[in-house]
Amino acid sequence: MIFQDALTTLPSRTFLLQKLAEVLQAGESSFAVVYLDCDRFKLVNGSFGYAIGNQLLIAIAERLQHHLRPGDVLARMGEDEFCFLLHQIDGAIALEPFIQAILRGFDTSFVVADCELFMTACIGIALGSSVYQQPEEPLQDADTAMYKAKLRGKGCYQIFDRQMSLAMLNRLTLENDLQRALEHQEFVTYYQPIVNLQTQNVVGFEALVRWQHPDRDMVLPGEFIPCMEETGLIVPVGMLVLKQACQQLRAWHQRGWTQLTMSVNLSVRQFTCPTLLADIDRVLAETAVNPAHLKLEITESAIVDNAQKAIALTEQLRSRQIQISIDDFGTGYSSLGQLHCFPVNNLKIDRSFVNQIQAGNRNYQVVNTIITLSNQLELAVIAEGLETTQQLQCLQQLGCEFGQGYLFSKPLTGAEIERIYLKSDRSGGFNQSAIAILSDFLDL
Ligand code: C2E
Ligand code: MG
Ligand code: MG
Repeated sequence: MIFQDALTTLPSRTFLLQKLAEVLQAGESSFAVVYLDCDRFKLVNGSFGYAIGNQLLIAIAERLQHHLRPGDVLARMGEDEFCFLLHQIDGAIALEPFIQAILRGFDTSFVVADCELFMTACIGIALGSSVYQQPEEPLQDADTAMYKAKLRGKGCYQIFDRQMSLAMLNRLTLENDLQRALEHQEFVTYYQPIVNLQTQNVVGFEALVRWQHPDRDMVLPGEFIPCMEETGLIVPVGMLVLKQACQQLRAWHQRGWTQLTMSVNLSVRQFTCPTLLADIDRVLAETAVNPAHLKLEITESAIVDNAQKAIALTEQLRSRQIQISIDDFGTGYSSLGQLHCFPVNNLKIDRSFVNQIQAGNRNYQVVNTIITLSNQLELAVIAEGLETTQQLQCLQQLGCEFGQGYLFSKPLTGAEIERIYLKSDRSGGFNQSAIAILSDFLDL
C-alpha cells in the first residue's frame, strides 16, 4: 500500500524515492527529476468541492501517464503534486520536447462530472549529477526550481542550478536575520528634511528605516523591505517606524518647532493589513502626536489594486486629520482619472523624473504636467531626489512647492538633525533656513 497512491493508483512518493535510491546506487547520472505542481488547485477544491477536485487529479494523472516511456516513473507526491523520474536524459536540451509536451497537455480542458475545467501547472527540473548522494537531494532541488518557476507565473518551468540553492539559502538567512533584528531592536529611523523650494525652509521630514546590522554597515531598505513585504514582517516593523517617528515629532513639537510635519511610508502589505487603523490609533494615543502633522505615504499600486477599499481606508485616515501622499508618483499605473476621486493631499514626483530634468526635455514636460495637474486637483507637490541646483531652479520655475534630496540633506538620525539645525541658532529655536549651512556641513 505504501508504494501506491490510493486516489490515482500511481506510484507513491516512497516508491519514487526508492527508485531514485537505486539509480544513485547504480552510479547513473543521466536521469532527470521533473516535479510538477498544479497552479492554484485550491481554487478547484474551494469552488467545486473535494469530490470534483479528486476527479480532476485522477484526470490529470491519466493525461500525464501518456508521456511515460517504458522504465520511467510517474508518482503522485502530494495533494496536487506529481513527479517524473526519467532515465537516459542527456542534458536540458534533450528534455525540452518532453517538458513542452507536458505543458501543452494542459492546453486542453479537463471534463469532470460535466464541468469543463482548465488547469495549468508549473514544473521544476533537477538533472542527474554525480554530486547527488541521497535520493531526497534531487527531489529537493527540483522542488526549489519549481518554486522559482511559480514566481514567474502560471504554466512556467525552470531547470535547477546551483546558484538557485545559494539564492534560496541567502534568502532564508535574510528572513531569519530580519526576524532576529526585530527582536533585538536593530531597526532605527532616519529623517530626511523636506524643504519649501521658494523659501528653502524646512517644513518637515520623511522617516526612513535603516537596519543597524551587528556586523555590517548600516543596511538600506532596498535590501530588506522586499523580503519583509513578502513575509509580512513589514507590518510590525512599519509600526515600529511609525511609533519612533511620531515620538520624535512629538518631541520636536514640544521643543517649540510646532509647524513640522512627519511623513511615514506605508507599504502595500501594511495598507491592506486588517489591523492598520487600530494599529495607527494605538500609536497616535501612545505618542500623543498631533495627527494633522502626520502624513502617510502610499504608492500607486496600493490604490490601483483595490480602489474602492483604498478610498474607504483613506477616508478613515483623513477623518483622523492624517494626510495622505502618493509616493513615487509616475512609476505605477494609477490613471489621472483615478486620482481625481481619491482623497489624497500630496503627490511626490518620483526621483527618476526629477534627476533627469532639463529645460526642454521629455522629463521636464512630464514634471510640468504633474505639477499642473496637481494644482488643478489642489494637491501639494513634492519633488523627490533633488541633487543639483539646476534641478532646483527648474522646479522653482515650474512652480513646484516642495522638494527633498541630497542637495539639501541625506537622511540623518534625530540627534544629527537637532545638532545641525540648532547649531546656527543660539536662541534654541528651530532654524528652518539652515538648509544652506546644512549642505555645507555635509559636504554634499
Ligand atoms: P521613498 O519613500 O521614495 O524614499 C525616498 C528614498 O530616496 C530614500 O531611500 C532616500 O534616502 C532616497 N533619496 C532621497 N534623496 C535622494 C537623492 O537626492 N538622490 C538619491 N539617489 N536618493 C535620494 P531609502 O531610505 O533607501 O528608502 C528606499 C525606499 O524604501 C523608500 O522610498 C520607501 O519606499 C522604502 N522605505 C523606507 N523606509 C520605509 C519604512 O519605514 N516603511 C516602508 N514601508 N517603506 C520604507
Ligand atoms: Mg516615501
Ligand atoms: Mg519616493
